[in-house]
Amino acid sequence: MPSKQYAILVDRLKDLSYLGSALGLLHWDQEVHMPPAGAEMRARTIGYLSGRTHEQFLALDKDKLLSKLAVALKDKDTAEAASVRDVWRSYRREKKLPVKFVREFSELCSEAHVVWAKARETSDFSLFQPLLEKIVAMKRQEAEYVGYKDSPYDALLDAYEPGATCAQLSPVFSELRDFLQPFIRRIVRAAASQPSLPDLKGTFPIEKQKAFNALVAEKMGFSHAAGKIDVSTHPFTMGFHPQDVRITTRYDERDALYAIGSTVHEVGHALYEQGLPVEHFGTPLGEAVSLGLHESQSRVWENQIGKGRAFWTYFYPKLQKAFPKPFKRVVFEDFFRIVNQVRPSLIRTESDEVTYNLHIILRYEIEKGLIEENLKVKDLPGIWKAKMKEYLGVCVPDDRQGVLQDVHWSGGSIGYFPTYTLGNLYAAQFYAAALRELPRLQTDVAKGRFAPVREWLRQKIHVHGKLHSAQVLVKNVTGEELSSRYFIEYLKTKYGELYGV
Ligand code: MG
Repeated sequence: MPSKQYAILVDRLKDLSYLGSALGLLHWDQEVHMPPAGAEMRARTIGYLSGRTHEQFLALDKDKLLSKLAVALKDKDTAEAASVRDVWRSYRREKKLPVKFVREFSELCSEAHVVWAKARETSDFSLFQPLLEKIVAMKRQEAEYVGYKDSPYDALLDAYEPGATCAQLSPVFSELRDFLQPFIRRIVRAAASQPSLPDLKGTFPIEKQKAFNALVAEKMGFSHAAGKIDVSTHPFTMGFHPQDVRITTRYDERDALYAIGSTVHEVGHALYEQGLPVEHFGTPLGEAVSLGLHESQSRVWENQIGKGRAFWTYFYPKLQKAFPKPFKRVVFEDFFRIVNQVRPSLIRTESDEVTYNLHIILRYEIEKGLIEENLKVKDLPGIWKAKMKEYLGVCVPDDRQGVLQDVHWSGGSIGYFPTYTLGNLYAAQFYAAALRELPRLQTDVAKGRFAPVREWLRQKIHVHGKLHSAQVLVKNVTGEELSSRYFIEYLKTKYGELYGV
């Protein structure tokens, strides 16, 4: 009985996915191709289609199809049941928010985004402050509408990382923070007495860089037949279907490594999208588990694999051949140190894998404080400066390079930042499991054989779609719950060797 009803639900979900693809393509085009004057019309088109999508989404239950299925399959342990539970979860969240509230919030964010851009440009937090106050107040309201057990912040986190709570995250993040602070101080001290490294700047024609990046992507297993690499200011991945996955990267004519890092990251995301099961397209079983899990797939390629010795043992000779100046005269060991340089800095998106998570933990603590009403928006610039000094030992000269640097809050995304650190922690834990199960992983990668690790990730993670929650998947794949232990061990081993700490 449920199977027939489920088939009807799947048809409705597929219709929603077609709308989602159309919307996605409009967004993609906006970032990649659209002429600047098209912005206003595009915003209206996206607004209209988003409204229609929202109506369609709520119509999933027009004849009580969804709610009946949800009741019938409530405690069942099948793929269909998992799929229905996930749709039901997002449906109920959406239903709890009054239409008027959603519209007002989206208008507030449009305005806030423009003001934030201006505030950042002029480094003047006071411009953005009243809007951020409204956003925080509305996000608190959203938490009340949605409901929560312990912290209102849990209700916001849940939108990005279903099932994650402060009770789970706070101890993991504190342990990580307490490890990182002294570890980074030791690295900074050790770096001061190391010989200086060669300069890798030069002139790298963009076309040649594009060819090199396409080669790296292909070797990793990115299908150029089912995907495309374009250029945008902020790199991203967008999957319309496993057979059509778009990534973007960005190039710097003076720095060949600038693009490679972001390409490898986005290809990691793309491999997840290309690895989702085609037969479940449109349903949760054909979707990525969560933002944190998605980020784990980009991070494991970007960091554990893409900044490892094995990866560069294979690619460095190719890089030297493509760009003899300056790489021909730079020995592997120096190059490898440069790729893995640790430097506490102001900007999150430019930070290295060791310092990165302190940028996130700082944001998590601030967001949680705002939503739990322990912090006030007007105090943020000062709190930001104090925490950056305490955690990373850096002095923040202005709000542009401090509290105003990220776009997230202006778009109403509160509860999103922790998914980046979750991604790093999942990545290290998955990679440790992969190394246990694939003893030849490093040897293979050093020879350019990326299939074993890619297929391992695909079989363990990608093909399951949303069959399991992030919490269950991590346990299934690694044998234990999420922990910061593997990430900490990974850093200790790698940077212990590089910096002698
Ligand atoms: Mg990412």
